[in-house]
Amino acid sequence: MDSEKGVELGTNLESERIVLPARVVEAKPKVPAVEPKPEPPLLGAIAKQAKLVGAVAKRVDEERWQVIRGDRVLNLTDKSRKAELDETVLFLSEPFSRRKGFFGLSDSDFENTLIPAMAPVVGSLRSGVIVIDPGHGGSEKGAVNDSLGLLEKDLNLDVSLRLQTLLKDLGYKVVLTRYDDRLVPLEERSRIANHSNAGVFVSVHFNAALNSEAMGLETYILTSIGALSTNDLNTGGDAQVWPGNAFDSLNFELGFRTHKGLIEDLQRVDRGFKRARFKVLKGLECPGILVECGFVSHSKEALLLNTPVYRQKLAESLARSLDDFAKPRRGDKSS
Ligand SMILES: [Zn+2]
Repeated sequence: MDSEKGVELGTNLESERIVLPARVVEAKPKVPAVEPKPEPPLLGAIAKQAKLVGAVAKRVDEERWQVIRGDRVLNLTDKSRKAELDETVLFLSEPFSRRKGFFGLSDSDFENTLIPAMAPVVGSLRSGVIVIDPGHGGSEKGAVNDSLGLLEKDLNLDVSLRLQTLLKDLGYKVVLTRYDDRLVPLEERSRIANHSNAGVFVSVHFNAALNSEAMGLETYILTSIGALSTNDLNTGGDAQVWPGNAFDSLNFELGFRTHKGLIEDLQRVDRGFKRARFKVLKGLECPGILVECGFVSHSKEALLLNTPVYRQKLAESLARSLDDFAKPRRGDKSS
């Protein structure tokens, strides 16, 4: 190659001229000087992101896209953090929207939602021990419904004891962070799980809101590193790495399965599969979730929560999902 062609290529650096392949140098003068063509929409970000996880992206209409792999279907809506995986509501860290002209997920949602949603990790659990954490207790009542005399701490313990019985019947070793009405500090709860060599952790709660119309079910996992939690405004994610973040992908699968199971089994309002940096989840050395099993502050839902039938159904749904998650991952580790 000669120096003249090197100049035509927009470089006068000796080293670049030397490494340019002759084929490129000769072809260059024939290429008209036009702006690079934008890629057609189907090769835009979401289609590429889908392809990277072995899935296919389809545009449904002006605002909606679908990503499909096997029997998993993720529905995405323009400018929205709210998405649906297999007809179950989940929340992205950032809105699905146009990025550099094409629809796409943020890098964080690609990594922390699309990958685990489309390609669930098998992984294995360190034990078949399941630790159940009945939220609150003792002087900490949790949510309260005065007119029915309902205390969240009692509901949490009741569901947890029912769940314990069901899981034991399925052959799991089960440990509770409290067996009676006492206060256990949040750090102590994850410490109990870690000391028990827990394979899976589930924290059981009921909800309350100032808005008396609020009702339904929510399931939380620990927010991924640097990502926004579901209830965060756009104010930057915490970049701190917590022990629980070692299980981001397994947390996703456990949380999603459990939430989907609860919505199908209980037929309550789907408030979504969400993420938060709850203290009780941060320090876990195993996959963990926190379930919010209904609103004691909703006049009608509270009546339902007050029935042993509903609480038994909750426990049965949780047991089924925990078993579905743990069974293929526990190998022959019985404890
Ligand atoms: Zn609670």
